[in-house]
Amino acid sequence: MLNKEERDQFEASVQRVRQAVLRRVAPLPRAEARRISREQLYQGLALVFDQALQADTLPPACESGCSACCHQAVSVTPMEAEALVGFIRMHWSAEAAQQMRQAAEARASNDSPSLSWAERPPCVLLGEDHRCRAYEARPAACRKCHSLSRVACDAREDELPQNLKLLMDAEALMGGVRLALEDCGDEQPVQTLPKALLKAWRAAEA
Ligand code: SF4
Ligand code: SF4
Repeated sequence: MLNKEERDQFEASVQRVRQAVLRRVAPLPRAEARRISREQLYQGLALVFDQALQADTLPPACESGCSACCHQAVSVTPMEAEALVGFIRMHWSAEAAQQMRQAAEARASNDSPSLSWAERPPCVLLGEDHRCRAYEARPAACRKCHSLSRVACDAREDELPQNLKLLMDAEALMGGVRLALEDCGDEQPVQTLPKALLKAWRAAEA
């Protein structure tokens, strides 16, 4: 729970990101504005993660192939779903893409937000080797996701120990970028990953 000073600092960070991104993308066509906004967001998230790793505090316990967190519900914006679809269409076989799409259809029509982390099946983009099959295009929610304890993740604990500064910096980036795009008339409502993916897929085929 943040105190008033922390809330004010957070809000100021969101507005700084919003104005910085808006200055860059406002004059651009929508597709280019989305691309630049995504780039800014993902570069910013990589930076805050690096800073957390280099800080004196306990670093995140995350490593490649560790995938308990990929059983959590993931929220995705349209600009992110668009990038995921672009990546899959470019890098996956038609058969793998079709299988994933069918899994996403099934999940989208049967996804209960009340499912606990332990009950939830893995993300439709997770591979059998426990690695993300769209890692380079993974959404901000996944880039932000971390834990200071793998044991806590393996036990699917509701409250994970996390780096608060990393979380707040990441949230400020995500909020500021969304607001900047919305200022340009490009609404960015979040949806669950399967629903957002299917919607972006249909738009790409239209
Ligand atoms: S959040 Fe947890 S499960 Fe996910 S990579 Fe980090 S330690 Fe592993
Ligand atoms: S998009 Fe990738 S990183 Fe994110 S939950 Fe799915 S498999 Fe995991």
